Amino acid sequence: MEVLFFSTETQNPSTQTKCIWLQDVKNLEGFEHLLTSVLKLNLDPKRPLGGDYASLAGAFGKDMTYVWFLGSKDSPTEVLLRDCNPTLVYLNKLLSSKEVGRSDVAGLISEWVKKQRCNCPKCGSLC
Ligand SMILES: [Zn+2]
Repeated sequence: MEVLFFSTETQNPSTQTKCIWLQDVKNLEGFEHLLTSVLKLNLDPKRPLGGDYASLAGAFGKDMTYVWFLGSKDSPTEVLLRDCNPTLVYLNKLLSSKEVGRSDVAGLISEWVKKQRCNCPKCGSLC
């Protein structure tokens, strides 16, 4: 009789505990919100000195043909990120790189992640 309720405690052992930073964007709950409130806003507009979606595409190893293709889309940033499907920690690394130079956007992503209240033990050091 005493083992009756044990089975319900072990449901979904792995999916719940995965850190927000380590989830790829396609599976990230709330990514749509992050896209519209942070990413499109900061990366879609062309910047003559770099730091826009084209610089980010370059950091992902994409060539100019692909960048021109992105330029024909409503939101180049959204197409790029759904295509490359990075984790947030990797995206932040690229945004902070010399090539892209958008540590301001990386900071906004960190703020966003904090608000999601990821309760994993690693977040203390990453956020
Ligand atoms: Zn976490």
